[in-house]
Amino acid sequence: YGDASQKIDYVFKVVLIGDSAVGKSQILARFARNEFSLDSKATIGVEFQTRTLVIDHKSVKAQIWDTAGQERYRAVTSAYYRGAVGAMLVYDITKRQTFDHIPRWLEELRSHADKNIVIILIGNKSDLEDQRAVPTEDVNEFAQKEGLFFLETSALQATNVESAFMTVLTEIFNIVN
Ligand code: GDP
Ligand code: MG
Repeated sequence: YGDASQKIDYVFKVVLIGDSAVGKSQILARFARNEFSLDSKATIGVEFQTRTLVIDHKSVKAQIWDTAGQERYRAVTSAYYRGAVGAMLVYDITKRQTFDHIPRWLEELRSHADKNIVIILIGNKSDLEDQRAVPTEDVNEFAQKEGLFFLETSALQATNVESAFMTVLTEIFNIVN
């Protein structure tokens, strides 16, 4: 997980967005520190976390931004999106409403962020299959129509979290190379 003495070839800013309590902060904790907490404290303090990884023999510093409880519609400021080359749009597979709000988040992204931003849609909490409220097939269709990458993750079980970040970072890397 990173090495301070390493020469950095690229810094990619990626923003996490989506409704409150879908698991954005835990997805970031899993990716940046391999940690998870069941404690649902609202996000406080730190604006972003970083992790440096290697893609195609280059060192890439991923700078991942997390909303500090500003998840209400239009409360996330344009400073948050500034310079972002990737976005992870998260909903909770057990809460239909969090998926129904995805078009709003997309609209917000498209009005504030760079038009070439790489977007991945993430259905989190896949460990709660028995409480599923959003069928995977529906989202596949939606993602395809909107031209988004899509994965279901579990921050709790560490399922697909690494893949989700690698999908976004590799796509960004391919665009700049
Ligand atoms: P945020 O508001 O989107 O940042 O959501 P949090 O990361 O604070 O998570 C909200 C709640 O959902 C917390 O109680 C987490 O422990 C829980 N949570 C987050 N990810 C998962 C997951 O993958 N599975 C389960 N079962 N719970 C999760
Ligand atoms: Mg949070």
